[in-house]
Amino acid sequence: RELTVDLGERSYPIYIGEGLLKEASTYFIKHGISKKSPLLIITDSRVAEYHLESFESELAEAGFQTASVIVPSGESSKSLSMLESLVTKALECGLDRKSAIVALGGGVVGDLAGFVAASYMRGIKFVQVPTTILAHDSSVGGKVAVNHPLAKNIIGAFHQPELVLYDLNTLQTLPPREVSAGLSEVVKHGLIWDAEFAAWCEENAEKLLALDAEALGYALYKGCSVKAAVVSKDERENDLRAILNLGHTIGHALEAVAGYGELLHGEAISIGMVGSARLGLRYGAPEDVYTVTKRVLAKSGLPVRLPDHFDVDKIMDAMMHDKKFSEGTMVFVVPTEIGKVEIKSDVPVQWVREIVEQLKLEV
Ligand code: NAD
Ligand code: ZN
Repeated sequence: RELTVDLGERSYPIYIGEGLLKEASTYFIKHGISKKSPLLIITDSRVAEYHLESFESELAEAGFQTASVIVPSGESSKSLSMLESLVTKALECGLDRKSAIVALGGGVVGDLAGFVAASYMRGIKFVQVPTTILAHDSSVGGKVAVNHPLAKNIIGAFHQPELVLYDLNTLQTLPPREVSAGLSEVVKHGLIWDAEFAAWCEENAEKLLALDAEALGYALYKGCSVKAAVVSKDERENDLRAILNLGHTIGHALEAVAGYGELLHGEAISIGMVGSARLGLRYGAPEDVYTVTKRVLAKSGLPVRLPDHFDVDKIMDAMMHDKKFSEGTMVFVVPTEIGKVEIKSDVPVQWVREIVEQLKLEV
């Protein structure tokens, strides 16, 4: 499958299919990646273990000059000090203005490598080779960043890739928890934009969890398409793009309060989406907004209930700290029906608190 992220001059294609890494050089050549300048592949320790060698040798056989660098797996690699050491590596390898940086990995590697590509020599070419389901989200839209100890994704840029090569075979090695966490954003794309796709996600949840290639290919295609549609209309996050934050206001607060490694991002926003659906009911949305949201997430292997030990006060504090809070009201993405959301800018903080408390009672 193929789709285009439509951004005028910066438009780029996303290819989704089985075994694409074996033909990576063909796609690279087609999209103007030069053989004359060295390429730097950035990946992480887990991904490298399974997928680096074959990828590198395919490119080398086709005549590309490649070097690769392996960063530790995990969010802590998205740091300024890592950026500096990757730039050192890029200089040592002789990367020039016509070189490209290739991200082989999940959202962490994509965000990090993308920011190296955006900043090295004020911007060189960038190719995304996503290896997680969640990365369908991060590979569309061009946001790249590293973290600061005080704030996530605060040092970043917009830098669009030349192409995205999504090889479904790489997903076969994903741990089950990462599969579900990635599906959370897939489902989100259905819930904000496309009721039919949300229903499809529910019907096909088992196949998706079993990493059925046909189902995965469709899910990623649809998920990328929704994100691409939203981003094409609002590249720089003026208004529409905010709908992508469904479940994220509560979700980010849960991530901030949770113990290290306790909740993956997709798990936190799953609980957050259930909360948003309950908020929808308060604004008069039909009951199925809540029941369908909860059912599709649960079927995707995701948590829909807030574990008891979470402290509601701390969650509320984290949310207030996050942003968008004034005079006892908050900004929230609220579903009005399945496949449609609205941004409400005057949600009473008291309602939010009640909903967070209710989240502990979900069954
Ligand atoms: P990740 O890149 O850390 O991958 C999750 C885990 O799976 C890691 O341990 C990784 O080593 C491992 N892994 C990756 N691919 C694998 C494979 N094929 N087989 C086995 N193991 C594999 O995390 P993620 O969930 O992909 O992405 C999360 C990151 O994405 C966050 O940093 C978030 O900020 C960012 N993000 C960015 C955007 C954006 O628009 N730029 C959007 C959403 C998320
Ligand atoms: Zn997210």
